[in-house]
Amino acid sequence: MARRGIFGGSFDPPHMGHLIIAQAMVNSLELDILTWVPAKTPPHKDSANLTSAEHRYRMTELAISGNPTFAISDVEMDSNQPPWTKYLLRRFKQDFPDDELFLIIGGDSLAEFHTWRDYRELWQLAKIAVARRQGEDLSGVDREILDNVKIVDTPLIEISATGIRRMIAEGKSIRYLVPETVRIYIEQHELYIDANSVK
Ligand code: ATP
Repeated sequence: MARRGIFGGSFDPPHMGHLIIAQAMVNSLELDILTWVPAKTPPHKDSANLTSAEHRYRMTELAISGNPTFAISDVEMDSNQPPWTKYLLRRFKQDFPDDELFLIIGGDSLAEFHTWRDYRELWQLAKIAVARRQGEDLSGVDREILDNVKIVDTPLIEISATGIRRMIAEGKSIRYLVPETVRIYIEQHELYIDANSVK
């Protein structure tokens, strides 16, 4: 029986904020493994400007490589099901019936948690662990939701994928905001240079 974290996202691109939060969650929740799950079509994002799922998956692989506690899953890549978190958690529950599951989300995701499909089912399938995030507004979050999630004391990291895409479109360097391997991948594939990728 393992303590297994699940970290879903669009990872467009994966950045140091994701990595620092993910490692802090591993440390704080004493996770044995944390699986990153790049979404093919994230349910809460406008997918029109999203970088291809293949690029995002490969960048996520590069970002986590070398950390034996991190793993990546392609379950969302070839899924024909709607990309709802309840399906993701049901799938993990089925694949790892003996494990204790922890869903990792950022504070901005918590603020919209009530819009997630059948969200009450989620805390029955996994413990929901939240990393606070700069600029989030949790004042409107229902008491019931707050009672069913755990806000974990993680560092506040003011990095977002949107900010990174904007910097690239403006011709600025993103050194140290993403792992060097990811920076080189972005450069080689000329990702995000079009201002339309900033949304
Ligand atoms: P975008 O700027 O495109 O919205 P993002 O930086 O929020 O992207 P996602 O891939 O959407 O990145 O994030 C996946 C998960 O990680 C979400 O639950 C999000 O809240 C969380 N997250 C991302 N960046 C941070 C951060 N700096 N601190 C805390 N949580 C974060």
